[in-house]
Amino acid sequence: TSGYQRKPDWIRVKAPTSKEYGETRQLMRRLSLNTVCEEAACPNIGECWKNRHATVMIMGDTCTRACRFCNIKTGMPNRLDPDEPRNVAEAVGEMHLRHVVITSVDRDDLEDGGAAHFVKVIEAVREHAPGTTIEILTPDFRNKEGAIKRVAEARPDVFNHNLETVPRLYPSIRPGARYFGSLRLLEMAKDTAPDIFTKSGIMVGLGETKEEVFQVMDDLRSAKVDFITIGQYLQPTPRHAPVDRFVTPAEFEDYARMARAKGFLMVSATPLTRSSYHADRDYEQLKAA
Ligand code: SF4
Ligand code: SF4
Repeated sequence: TSGYQRKPDWIRVKAPTSKEYGETRQLMRRLSLNTVCEEAACPNIGECWKNRHATVMIMGDTCTRACRFCNIKTGMPNRLDPDEPRNVAEAVGEMHLRHVVITSVDRDDLEDGGAAHFVKVIEAVREHAPGTTIEILTPDFRNKEGAIKRVAEARPDVFNHNLETVPRLYPSIRPGARYFGSLRLLEMAKDTAPDIFTKSGIMVGLGETKEEVFQVMDDLRSAKVDFITIGQYLQPTPRHAPVDRFVTPAEFEDYARMARAKGFLMVSATPLTRSSYHADRDYEQLKAA
């Protein structure tokens, strides 16, 4: 949404103006909730909020890490809000969501990386809104096995953890995280609760090659991951990593075709794909199939 990097025609974003947008905003403020839609300056906010689809960000608005693609602020994190599980559940109920995506900042300051809090939120939503399916998009919980298992045992319907980029670019783009640690987390979630769906995603346009993206797909399939999302990286501010290139819609189609051929159950690969974009619709289609 800024002029310092010219965006191609296929990245067009409508300004958020709907009545539902305003209502969602008010609801989030009243219940002291953060959304990744706002914090990450997501280009889809107008469309998603109009359709009453939002991604709640728990455990505060301040992250202990500083990934070079991410617009969330870094610093001393907030204290965990004990009312948050109830407030998230209330927001889900009031918005009549059929599917909710719950994500969080990284909490390297907490012994379990925030796993126990995640479990409380899942349980509160399940109790208050039993008809809503729950998708979590998690940090790596410091790669602690016990923490990851505890969260999977709470049985979210979809367990999503993003790889974000290819392993070669981790040191510059996602320092503080380990590619194989994240893969192991996904596999562990599946092994702990084999009937839940697992999901992961990457951004492209950061300098990766096609072969590297195909390798990530293979790695994810080896870790038994069911869903994949691939979207164009957009630079949130001039302080963030620059866009290396804009991947064309035809190249995204190639990625989608390849991902389906490799056996993913759900594939979303378009310029504006974000890991929570159309997550509600995709999940429902899959259930219906
Ligand atoms: Fe929010 Fe995800 Fe939609 Fe972006 S794509 S507005 S983060 S729900
Ligand atoms: Fe952003 Fe997540 Fe990285 Fe924190 S860990 S800076 S929230 S991408």
